[in-house]
Amino acid sequence: MKRSGHCLCGAVSYEVADEVTEMGACHCEMCRRWTGGIYLSFRAVPDAVSIEGGENLSIFASSPWAERAFCKICGSSLYYRVTAEGPYQGTYHFAAGSLDDHDGIALTGQVYIDKKPKAYAFRQSTKDYTEAEILAMFADVTDPS
Ligand SMILES: [Zn+2]
Ligand SMILES: [Zn+2]
Repeated sequence: MKRSGHCLCGAVSYEVADEVTEMGACHCEMCRRWTGGIYLSFRAVPDAVSIEGGENLSIFASSPWAERAFCKICGSSLYYRVTAEGPYQGTYHFAAGSLDDHDGIALTGQVYIDKKPKAYAFRQSTKDYTEAEILAMFADVTDPS
């Protein structure tokens, strides 16, 4: 099943040809500030992605290994994308909130769980990772040496 989504004003839309059944939450400080809350996203490989209205995207290099794209008209967060060389280069993490249809997608993971503000928590049990666990996982990808 193809997934589709768009920003609030509709100037940017996208389609993902791959099966999407999982989404994850990121509680890191960058995602919190970027979205104004929790970044809920689903993963898509570059070959499966087509974007319409890409000229309306503003792309912000938020770290040496990733960029974040948002609609320059309405400000909607649309995707986080890995730019670092390595096995994850080009991988998109689309904002789940931009999806047209959430059927069949479960929240299965949370990252930077140790950075989550205590004010809220998801009720379902998920596979969770701390900042240290995530950094260890990506150390070989983000380290240029
Ligand atoms: Zn927009
Ligand atoms: Zn994050």
